[in-house]
Order: sequence, then structure tokens, then C-alpha cells
Amino acid sequence: MNVLELEKVRKTYQKHVACDDISFDIEEGKIFGLLGPNGAGKTSLIRIITTITKADSGKILFNGEALNNTHPSKIGYMPEERGLYKKMKVGEQITYLARLKGFSKREAFEQLDYWLDKFDILDWRYKKVEELSKGMQQKIQFISTVIHNPKLLILDEPFSGLDPINTNLIRDEIYELNKKGTTILFSTHRMEQVEQICENIVLINKGKNVLEGQVSDIKDKFKEHIYKVDFVGKIPENIDEHANIVEEEENSIKVQLIDVGHANKFLNYLLSQGTLVTSFNEILPTLNEIFIKIVGGKSDE
Ligand code: ATP
Repeated sequence: MNVLELEKVRKTYQKHVACDDISFDIEEGKIFGLLGPNGAGKTSLIRIITTITKADSGKILFNGEALNNTHPSKIGYMPEERGLYKKMKVGEQITYLARLKGFSKREAFEQLDYWLDKFDILDWRYKKVEELSKGMQQKIQFISTVIHNPKLLILDEPFSGLDPINTNLIRDEIYELNKKGTTILFSTHRMEQVEQICENIVLINKGKNVLEGQVSDIKDKFKEHIYKVDFVGKIPENIDEHANIVEEEENSIKVQLIDVGHANKFLNYLLSQGTLVTSFNEILPTLNEIFIKIVGGKSDE
């Protein structure tokens, strides 16, 4: 079952095409990364999914139904530009937003207590938002985004401005919500976070979907047959007949195999030459390297 299905979604601003027939699906229960350089069209697409704006053309299904005005109550969206009411007290703010999403007063207060207690911030309840630091406000924004237990949670750079402890706290909450069934659409430029968190990604560049799939499959597809070998003693003198040395340190080399797909043969060759190999690992490209390779200097800004 897909929570979201996008087919040829198009959005133009005057003559600029922000989303150029974008198609992809998000399976229920996944943590899905929406990636792309500045100006790629991610926010434009998210604003369409959350019904803030409309696509010019294309098809969007939410939970199998054509996207409509009943769906935002099942979506939680934390935009990169945070938007809390500065003069409101934390408790009022969170319950107000919960009520906008259809909660009764009682449900809103129950949820408020639950989350403030969970984050161990019960004493913030009567503080005005403007009295909180940026990171503290972000925690309140996160609570406001998830309070109505959305089916789809859309997070745009959720960790920006958070210290390492609060980053872990929010990340653990994201995992917990995901385990309980919330599908997550996660947008960020921080590729190491994507590697850590997302199972599937779509990469958008200049409004077009340029790469899509499971992170492990994508890394496999872009692999360059590079291996790191740690050893004791010497490496054989004729190694360049079998591999190109990419990096060399004392007792460690990185090589690119000439005979690709025959790592065992290469390892046996090293052993047969008397090299004492202490570790032998394939080095897959990072998502950051793949991102740069595909997008290169071709972003919109
Ligand atoms: P970033 O990573 O920098 O947030 P993004 O991928 O979210 O970028 P969008 O904000 O969707 O990118 O912008 C895509 C393109 O559409 C950009 O060229 C931008 O200038 C343009 N654009 C976005 N919103 C508007 C608007 N309201 N009016 C005109 N052009 C817009």
C-alpha cells in the first residue's frame, strides 16, 4: 500500500518550471528521503502534497484517494522556515494547533501533557515561545507537528539548529513514530543523515526526478569496485597488473580492481604473494558522492 503516489506532477511559476512532471510513490511505513540541491523544487512539491498550493497538472493519491482537503489533517508538516506564534505560551500554542487538526479540547490537553512529559519540559508550559531558545522552539515545533498522530510526517531539515543531544532525541522520536506506523518524508541536504535514516530516496534536480530507489541498491549501482586492504609487510610489486592504487598509506591501500567482480581472486592473489592481509573491505560510494556526481555543478542556484 502506498501512502502517497505522484504521477507527472507539474508546477510552474510564471515561466519557471519548479516541478517538471515528477513521479514517485511512497510506501506505507517507510522513511523516505526527498533530496535535491537548492532550488530543485522540493519545497514546491511539499507545498503541493500538503495542499498549500495546487499542481498545474498531474495526479496525486493520498492513501489511494485523490488528494483533497480532508487529507491535511492526516499529514504533519514541519517546514524549514519554522512558524510558531512568538507571543503565545507553549501550552496554548500546542493545544491550539492540535485543535486546528481536529482534536477536542480534552484530547489536545492529554496530548500536551504526554509530549511535555515525554520531553521532560513540563515547566515550559506557561513560557512564551519568544522566551525559548531556537533549539527549544524547534522541540515545540516538532511536538506541534506530530501531536495529531499523522499518517504522513513531512520533515524539512528537522535537525537544523539542534545540539547533538536534541538531535538524538528528535531522531529517536522519528524512529518511534515510524515504528508505530507513521510514514516519514524527510527532506534535507545532510547526506550523512539520509544514509543513517532513510530506506528509500528520490533525488530531484531542476524540477526533474533524476534518481530513485532503495539507498542500498543505489549505492550498489554507483559502486566503483574500490576496496580497502589493510596488511602487514609488503604489497606485491606487480599489484598494478590487478588493481589501480587510489590511496596509499603505511600498511593500508585503497585500490580499484581491474577485473571487476572478482574480489576473491584479487584477495587470493595478495595472499599467494605472501601479503598478510588483516582486513579487506569494499568501499561503497557515499550518498554525498553520488549526489555530487549526479547533480555536479548543475543545480539551479
Ligand atoms: P531549497 O533546498 O533551497 O529549499 P527547493 O528544492 O525547496 O530549494 P523550491 O523552493 O521548490 O526549491 O524552488 C524551486 C524553484 O521554484 C526555484 O527556482 C524558485 O526560485 C522557484 N519558486 C519557488 N517558489 C516560487 C514562487 N512562489 N514564485 C516564483 N518562483 C518560485
